[in-house]
Amino acid sequence: MEPTNQQFCMLCNHKIHGRTDKKFCNDNCRNAYHNKINHSENILIRNIKAKLFRNRKILSETSGDRSVCTINRSLLVSKGFQFEFMTQMHSNKHGSVTYFCYDYSYKLINDSSIQILSPNKK
Ligand SMILES: [Zn+2]
Repeated sequence: MEPTNQQFCMLCNHKIHGRTDKKFCNDNCRNAYHNKINHSENILIRNIKAKLFRNRKILSETSGDRSVCTINRSLLVSKGFQFEFMTQMHSNKHGSVTYFCYDYSYKLINDSSIQILSPNKK
């Protein structure tokens, strides 16, 4: 009698026969499973990118043509800026933190003021 295999396909949940390390019943199930996983990840990444792009747009619109400007934090909040989404964070030896959103950056001056640093504008 051959050893029984209690593995089930990770996609369709059908019983798998053959090697004990098989995870899918065939190539179609394996491909469909990975496409499904990638699709969910792509949606997640796309949503994060959209939030970052929106934050960058808000920084760009708020700063206008100024390379440096200080504004009230509530202005960014009212425009829907999401402070938890950034591309980079840098703190200097004095503990001053600069937050980046692609080519724009900003610093918290105090509880209510923010200084936006724009990239070179032509
Ligand atoms: Zn299957």
